[in-house]
Parts: sequence; structure tokens; C-alpha cells
Amino acid sequence: MSITNITSNRFLEAIANGPILFDGAIGTLLYERGVFLNQCFEHTNLSQPNLVKQIHRDYLNAGAQVLTSNSFGANRMKLKKHQLQNQVEEINRSAVALAKEIAGDQAFVAGSVGPTGIDLDDLAQEKGIEAYNALKEQISILVDAGVDLICLETFMVLQELEMAVSIAKTFHVPVVALYTFQENGLGKEGQTPLLIAQRLAQAGADVIGSNCGGGPDMIFDVTSPMVQVGKPVLAQANGGRPELVEGRSIYTANPEFFSVFARRLLKAGVRLIGGCCGTTPDHIRKMAAAVKMLSKPQIEEINEGEASTQQPKIALENRSHFGELISKSKFVCSVELNPPMASFDLSKVISATQKLAQAGVTTINIADGPRASLRMSNLAMAQVIAQQTTISPILHVCCRDRSFLGLQSHILGAHVMGIRNLVIITGDPPKIGPYPHSSGVYDMDSIELLRVIKGYNAGIDPSGKEMEPTAFVCATGAEPAAIDYEREIKRLSLKQKAGADLVMTQPVYDADQLERFLQDTQNLGLPVMLGLCPLASYRNAVFLDQNVPGMQIPSHIIERMRLADLNGEGAKEGVKIAREMLDLVQHKIQGAYIMPPFGKYELALDVLNGYIEPVDTSKHNHHHHCTCCVDDSVRNLSHCSKN
Ligand SMILES: [Zn+2]
Repeated sequence: MSITNITSNRFLEAIANGPILFDGAIGTLLYERGVFLNQCFEHTNLSQPNLVKQIHRDYLNAGAQVLTSNSFGANRMKLKKHQLQNQVEEINRSAVALAKEIAGDQAFVAGSVGPTGIDLDDLAQEKGIEAYNALKEQISILVDAGVDLICLETFMVLQELEMAVSIAKTFHVPVVALYTFQENGLGKEGQTPLLIAQRLAQAGADVIGSNCGGGPDMIFDVTSPMVQVGKPVLAQANGGRPELVEGRSIYTANPEFFSVFARRLLKAGVRLIGGCCGTTPDHIRKMAAAVKMLSKPQIEEINEGEASTQQPKIALENRSHFGELISKSKFVCSVELNPPMASFDLSKVISATQKLAQAGVTTINIADGPRASLRMSNLAMAQVIAQQTTISPILHVCCRDRSFLGLQSHILGAHVMGIRNLVIITGDPPKIGPYPHSSGVYDMDSIELLRVIKGYNAGIDPSGKEMEPTAFVCATGAEPAAIDYEREIKRLSLKQKAGADLVMTQPVYDADQLERFLQDTQNLGLPVMLGLCPLASYRNAVFLDQNVPGMQIPSHIIERMRLADLNGEGAKEGVKIAREMLDLVQHKIQGAYIMPPFGKYELALDVLNGYIEPVDTSKHNHHHHCTCCVDDSVRNLSHCSKN
């Protein structure tokens, strides 16, 4: 097997393992950095190699995992227009060498190949043979120079792209085929994105997709339907629409928007993303966090055997009241209440918690900077709740904001404060919230952190040293409606092995998806708390579907909300939809986890009506004066029995 074949497999393997980030534009960046439009951009490989290398370096530093060679227009027919047809080999070889020098073993190098400029009518004529030869010549040089893959891009004549794919296939490298759509989202002959996708897959492309032609919205619209063909899809949008400012084309899309765009694409099942004309290292940096959050599936196998030998020192039923209920298979209900924004006033959440407790809700979940928003620490709120109400909350711990050490001191600190119930989650990247410049740490993901806490419960710290054992009950998350469903199920089984005691799901709105999930996870033996988020309105439904990672709302549900909203009964319908899910699977689950929209906890009570019974909480009033009862495990073991 040749070297080329080994590297090719590496690229295809990388795609299978998680999202891949390409770089952004080279041409428009060269222009921005002083190369004139009438100059041949590819000739700068020879005339200004340092400028080209700096662009590659900037993209690598921004997080790009694939660097594209500066060879887009370096086929014989295009170079002829600049009287450079004698330098085809030199220009293409230097393009690859410059990219490879910067990529090292940190990134893949894609050999960029653009169209020859031939139109459909000429393709069948003698000029078609010239185009065939020009593409074959360029591709063979790029492959020989050592690219990891060939990226055919910005083709608008489908037949030319199909021809290029068949040529590239003969060189046994992975082939990416990108079609450029018209502004109306259709091909030059009116083809739909799905049809184009089918044709490219049939031609033998390993990756299909679209670049250029439009901004993020347009690229989203054309690439998301391509996913259903079953090939990995690459989407590369322009940095918005070019606007002529004093005779120059300026691309106006805000780099910030590219993080939202990246998330939407990945959510829709697109696995490879990058930028086209007008994008800069800044745009790529914004996309990197979304990619980072959704990658890292490869860490999972580490230490699995070792971790499984660690036994908790304290049985689940003795770790907390919540743990006791779970271990006895009692139906449990939790409602999510979050720290207020822009205020220190906890009186509302305290009175809400008291009302929920009186109504019979088992506990409350407190999220950790949900949607990357700025709020007081949830640990502080959990402590106040534990002191001032009868409820021992569940503390969410997300891996976004704290380093490997920071997470651990945070969790051990929570233990000292009496917090025993945790939900371990990886967390939304900061780029999707209002503070995109905050860094997403992600030293660990949820599986790794679960494993660390499993060790704590067994009295062993991550370095293998003995320590005083903890008594945590650990929940984990799962997404029954995940696009990459198989991966989600695989991850859940790894989470279970890593020490999760139960799973709290993302909201589900589709009965089939829910049943399938419960069926497929039954063998894990993990108690399931069904996540429910009663929709507040039609607008709320659309927003959640489009913007919140892990939430897919079927169109028939959105339609039900739209109709109900017309009669001013949106919220009522939202509760009804949530209850239908709960009623359907009540005997197969361990409990319900309600995330009321906009903190409207009354909606949670409507959903749970009939599943919970009011409790007399007056007998617990002494908790306010009894500091030992802050510690849930003490509460269970001594004088303060809680029903
Ligand atoms: Zn472009």
C-alpha cells in the first residue's frame, strides 16, 4: 500500500470520528492582504510564498483541521489566461509544499481544484477533451506532491464536476466534490440540492457538498437536504454577500454569526464545515468551538477496564434522599429552576421551590450557565435552596468553564456543602451565548468527568491515590432525538460504564423516537428520567427547534402549536403535548424532569398533575435551624427522615 493510501484512510477515519473543520478563503484574503485582483492568485505561491504560508498558519491557529492548497485556478486552461501555462507543475507543487509545511502533522492538506471555465455546451466538443486533460494533469501533480485529499470546488457545471470526480477517483485519494448553487438555491439547470447530491454520490465522491455562491443561510438551505443521501457533507459559505464599497467587494457577514451557523449545520447532520469567499481566520475561529463541543468521541475507550473495577464505598440508597428513591424505583420528579439573570434576588426561586416541594416534586435541577449565559454560580444558589427549603437540589456541572483541576475542586467543594446530586454534562460552547469571547475549556468531557467522580465514590483520585470517598449520585444527559442516534446510544453506554447512576433526557416531542430510545437503552439498566419542556408558544417551538443543540421538534408538533396559538391557547397545548409523552411511557421510566420555559414553574405542575401528591412540608421546618440537615446523606442517616 502506498503512503497516499495510508493518509487517505486517515482522513476518512477522521470524518467518521466527528466533525471536521476546513479553513476559509485564500483568494479574498490574498486580495485583502494586497495582491491585486488582476494578478494570478496561484502565482503568489512562487512570488510571495511567505504571504501564502502566513494565511495557512493563521487558519491553522484558528483551529482549522484541513488546510486547502492555493491551487484553485492552477489548471492549464486557467493559467493560460495569465500566460503561465508553462508553470502548471511548479505552481501546483509549491501550493502543496507551502500548505504541508504549515500543516505538519497537525492538519490535513486538501488539494484545491477549481473548474476550467468550460460551459456545458463545450463539454461534449473538443474543448471538453482539453478540460479533461487539464483537470487530470493538475490532479495528478497535486496527488504526487502528497495531498491527503482532493477538494473539487466552486463547480457550477454539474457534468464537469462529475468528470473531475471520476478523474480524481483513479488516483485513489479521498475526493470531496463541492457544487456551487445559484442564488435561488438551485443548480444551473434548475437541479435541486438533493438531485445534485445523488449525482455526486453516484459519481463516486467520498464527501459531497457546496461552497460559495451565497452566505450562511443559503449554504444551510442547500447542504442540509444533501445529508439524506448518506455521504458526509461539507458546507462552506461565503462571508455574507459581497457589497461594492468604493469599487471593492466587501463581504459583510459578521464572524460571530458563523458560530451560530456552524451549530445549525452540525445539528442538521452536516459533518464538515469551513468558509469560502470573504471568510477569514476570525470566521473559522468562531466555528471551531462548535466543532470542539461535538467532537472527541475517541477518548472513550481509555481506562474503561480500570474504571469498572472501582466500587463505590457508599451504596446509592445511602448517598442522598434522591439516590434512595432511585434505588427503590420510586417515581421521581424534578423541575429545573435557574439562577436569575441580572439580579441577586433569590426570593422568587425560593418561593417557587417551596411551592414545588409542597406540590410533591422531589427535587429541582439547577443548570450551570445554561446557553452560555452570565449568571451567579449554581452552587451558590443550590446552597441557599438547601438551607432555606426542604429540597436538596441537583447541581449541574458542565465541563465548559473549568479546567481539569478547577472542575474537581468545584465538585469537592460542593460535597463539603452537602450537595450530593449532580448532573454531569459537557455544556454549550460560549460562542452560542452572549459572551462569545469567553473561552470554552473542555479539558474533560462528560464521560471523562463521570469517570473521575466514579473514582471519588470509590475513594480513589484521578492519579490513583487513595482519598476520603465521596457520596455523589451522578446523572448524565442523553438526546433521544439526536441526529447521530447511534453515536448517542454508544455514548450513553460509555457514560453508564463511566459511573452514571441515571439518565435525564433532553426534551422529547416524538413518541416513536421516545419509544425507540427506551427500547434501545433498556439493556443498560440505567433509570431514565424523561425530559419534558412544555412549549410556551409557536414562536418558542420554532426557536428551540432551530437554536438549541439537542432539541428537535417534529413539524406536526410545531403545526399543533401554531394552530393553538391562533386561539391564544399555545401554552395549554404545550402542556398537553408534554403530558402525552409522559402518559405514553410512564411505566417504563423512573421519573420526569421538567424544564419549564421562561421559569414558569406552574407549567411544570400542570404537566405533573396526577403524577405527584401534595406533601405537608411543615414537619420539615426545623431544617432551617438544623445545619446537619443541609447534608443530604446525614439527613437520611439520622433524625430527620423525609418521606
Ligand atoms: Zn467562494
